[in-house]
Amino acid sequence: CGIVGYIGAQEATPIILDGLKRLEYRGYDSAGVCTLDAGRAEVRRSEGKLFNLERLVAAQPLLGRIGIGHTRWATHGRPSEINAHPHQAGSIIVVHNGIIENYLELRERLRGIGREFLSETDTEVISHLIDEKYGACGDFERATRQALAELRGAYAVCVLCEKEPGILIAAKQGSPMVVGLGVGEFFVASDIPAILSHTREMVFLDDGEMVVFRDGTPSFSRVSGEPLEKASRHIDWS
Ligand code: GLU
Repeated sequence: CGIVGYIGAQEATPIILDGLKRLEYRGYDSAGVCTLDAGRAEVRRSEGKLFNLERLVAAQPLLGRIGIGHTRWATHGRPSEINAHPHQAGSIIVVHNGIIENYLELRERLRGIGREFLSETDTEVISHLIDEKYGACGDFERATRQALAELRGAYAVCVLCEKEPGILIAAKQGSPMVVGLGVGEFFVASDIPAILSHTREMVFLDDGEMVVFRDGTPSFSRVSGEPLEKASRHIDWS
């Protein structure tokens, strides 16, 4: 339902929690956040209101200058902590809005090669699929492209790789995703209000498009690989 991602010089968690709060009006049943710090992914998830997640994060702080967060509106699998996003498989961590229509056949194949699923969500196939490709090619960006090409349905996704703490990837097909350009820092969100207090320079991803943040630069491309020039827009709502 709601997605917020951050990469830059500030602590990611407060920015992500604040952004998720600004998307609360859309409704949700659970929430979660993941950051990368010192080569490790840390995930916190909780059922119910964002307050529950905030309390959890206060008790078990989540450090790191790169992170992703999600408020979930369950479509596949009941509302629960286990089904809340982010979903991690191996090195790959994913938050997702939308519905993956071919998740059953993908899950069947992945189970067949020994992959164990912890949740009932369609989303968990995305993290396993990217992790499978990453294991084969060792290239996070390429693995994400290959995996997304196999998905049918609608998605806005934000992806981290535990072994690539300097890279954040976001992509969309049929669900909205906006990129906020800051000074030496970048934001992604499923809707403008989540990040408007940080920047007014925004790039709107179109269907089939992806952004990779690495070394302080966003690179836009088609999921299929073709590079893109994207213009930013200045948002002047108050
Ligand atoms: N289909 C996913 C799930 O049920 C994402 C739902 C959403 O858009 O929040 O977990």
